[in-house]
Amino acid sequence: DNFIIAIDGFSSCGKSTVAKAIAKELNFVFVDSGAMYRAVTLYFLRNNIDFTNEQAVKKALDNIHIDFIPNTEKTLILLNGEDVSDAIRQMEVSDKVSEVSAIKEVRKALVAQQQQLGARRNIVMDGRDIGTTVFPDADLKIFMTADPLVRANRRFAELTLKGEDVTLEEVIENLAHRDHIDSTRAESPLRQAADAIVLDNSHMTQEQQLQFVLEHYNK
Ligand code: C5P
Repeated sequence: DNFIIAIDGFSSCGKSTVAKAIAKELNFVFVDSGAMYRAVTLYFLRNNIDFTNEQAVKKALDNIHIDFIPNTEKTLILLNGEDVSDAIRQMEVSDKVSEVSAIKEVRKALVAQQQQLGARRNIVMDGRDIGTTVFPDADLKIFMTADPLVRANRRFAELTLKGEDVTLEEVIENLAHRDHIDSTRAESPLRQAADAIVLDNSHMTQEQQLQFVLEHYNK
């Protein structure tokens, strides 16, 4: 049988970093579900889709095809064949992604795709509702948290490194904004699954986080 590891938590807790490390260690497939919501958001922004128009949203979703291409350095995400791995990380997308993710039709479409990606193979998926909605029967569930300022500083460093013109204040605001929408939306809000193991990585190295998850995997 296949093994599923679900990693959920707040924005910028380092979920993808841990998930990638585990996938590499165990030779599992890694899927960043947030990247899928970001790709949909990018499409909506580029095509001026009115988020409040259900018909327009449905039609747009029919025209969106997302692929993951495993690469040596990083997994690429393709939106209708175009590599959007960098474009989906821009602030314009971060500012709107939680609004788009709260749309019922969007979640329905992406959850179905995520479940397909995890069918019949070993997978590590990170997101907000993986252990609660996408894979409620996941074999191992991790819920990640970290000090909000630690998180903001990490994301700020990441964005600055990429040459993005943002201030720390903007990043703090964006994280708080997304966490609020993500945990209060009607459709599968961000919450800790009852059987999830909490990992607070505020003061942990990446290696320590990897070992923490591996210990639980080996139990
Ligand atoms: O993981 P990341 O921060 O890139 O996700 C971007 C946004 O996508 C989140 O703030 C959230 O609004 C949404 N998301 C979601 N459900 C998931 C993964 C991401 O709603 N499983």
